Amino acid sequence: NAMIENLKKPAVISSHNNVSDTTDFQTVLIKSKELSRRIEKEIGGVGFKNEPSKRISVLSHPDKNFIISLLSTWDTGNCFVPLCTSHPAKELKYIIENSDSKLILYHSCFKNKINELKLEIEDNNQIKYLQLDSNTKSDLVGVEEETFEISSKNFDKSLAAVIIYTSGTTGKPKGVVLTHLNIEAQIRSLQSAWGWEKDDKILNVLPLHHVHGLINVVFCALFTGASLEMNNGFKAIDVWKRFNTESQDLTLFMAVPTIYSKLIEEFHKMSKDDQIKSKNSLRQFRLMVSGSAALPEKIFEKWEAISGHKLLERYGMTEIGMVLGNPLIGERTSGEVGVPFPGVKLKILSDEGIDITNDCNKNGQLLVKGDQISVGYWNNSKANFESFDSEGYFKTGDIVKRGDNGRFKILGRASVDVIKIGGYKVSALEIEREILEMDNVKECSVFGKFDEVYGEKIICLVVLQNETLKFDLTQMRKFLQDKLAPYKIPQVLLVLKEIPKNIMGKVNKKELKKLVA
Ligand code: ATP
Ligand code: MG
Repeated sequence: NAMIENLKKPAVISSHNNVSDTTDFQTVLIKSKELSRRIEKEIGGVGFKNEPSKRISVLSHPDKNFIISLLSTWDTGNCFVPLCTSHPAKELKYIIENSDSKLILYHSCFKNKINELKLEIEDNNQIKYLQLDSNTKSDLVGVEEETFEISSKNFDKSLAAVIIYTSGTTGKPKGVVLTHLNIEAQIRSLQSAWGWEKDDKILNVLPLHHVHGLINVVFCALFTGASLEMNNGFKAIDVWKRFNTESQDLTLFMAVPTIYSKLIEEFHKMSKDDQIKSKNSLRQFRLMVSGSAALPEKIFEKWEAISGHKLLERYGMTEIGMVLGNPLIGERTSGEVGVPFPGVKLKILSDEGIDITNDCNKNGQLLVKGDQISVGYWNNSKANFESFDSEGYFKTGDIVKRGDNGRFKILGRASVDVIKIGGYKVSALEIEREILEMDNVKECSVFGKFDEVYGEKIICLVVLQNETLKFDLTQMRKFLQDKLAPYKIPQVLLVLKEIPKNIMGKVNKKELKKLVA
């Protein structure tokens, strides 16, 4: 496995919110080897008594145990399935059973959840459990420490390296198989697009069961040999505290729009002195990235005012990694996700299936191909059949438009973000962007709901900045009238205290539709 051979040694892996717990990479390798032996005892490895690769699910906070689990899973030729630490046992059961995991590695802090899980799982005889932090005696005594390296002899690039479940924004999460080749291609593409270097130091605040945190942050840092610092979850106050430490040496930060929005909110609670300090501490960064959901213009602008950084917005998905991005060097504009990443082939198809790749300003579905695209969904032949075209391009299901400048705009998912109203097709994301420009609007979500006359009508949910101020549909329609065509202006407005979102800050519109009678 080339990626594993490429694995350089990060300066340090450190973890836990502002509590220094740093580990050098050599120690991580030794611990990984110890764990490999334990894994082989439980379930074998590839080449071990001719066993095929197995799925290993991992329940660990984002810390060294997580990295150790990953390396030993690969070392034994198995496939890594990262679990969401905040999922209740029922949801973990779905992923463990769907991925047909044979082993669960867990940290003792999840002991209770594991016990609940054991009660939930139907056939426990098929699954083994190993506690990551148990005090088993190392059986590596006598081996020269310098000789430790992760084995690559037993598997090739076509072997499944990870199964990552999609965010579940539009239905049950689907298991996406990424081979070592897929991952290698994704990392190389990001390394060249964002100029990853050994001197980089990144703070991760994202969960590690999605590509954003796992691949863009953790894998890129590991395989570049950069320093990786991992917070356990995201708390705005902790992140500001870390940004403001005397020895501020972070160079990279990647997050979802909701995280930037919470950081902005927290910034405005600071004293004037602390605000000045905070602004200065952000100058040290060389790049700050946003993705996973559309970045509202307000957040782009407010973050620039605070940090001096124009956020680099990129577009990607679990099945394809990152495929479109604003430039590292050059103009970044709000509302655009830039140009294709190195190594990505793409085409755009109209609703009628006509190839409109070379046409500007036309809406169509994005299809992508390349080494970084997943080999397919796990155990889901129907979805696999439907998701690839005859030339092997993956159908993203996202509607995009390329402008005259060659840069792409994301108009949303064909399934929930495209509203069909009286023969028109309207992008919910386009309407959301305009509504978010209203002073008192903090969040908003737009979707279609069945209407006898027009097919669908446009519903808008908003959360207000200041609830005591008057806000109604007439006011909103008036604001939008010179910004959007009349048929794009919402007919129904609901003001909510909050819009429910998943851990990646994504809104499940199918669920929201149920809220509206
Ligand atoms: P599921 O597939 O389970 O319904 P999901 O599509 O949200 O959930 P992910 O793979 O985590 O799961 O997310 C990929 C999707 O996120 C893309 O298909 C796209 O719709 C959206 N997305 C990602 N980046 C951006 C962006 N910069 N702007 C707008 N949408 C984005
Ligand atoms: Mg999806």
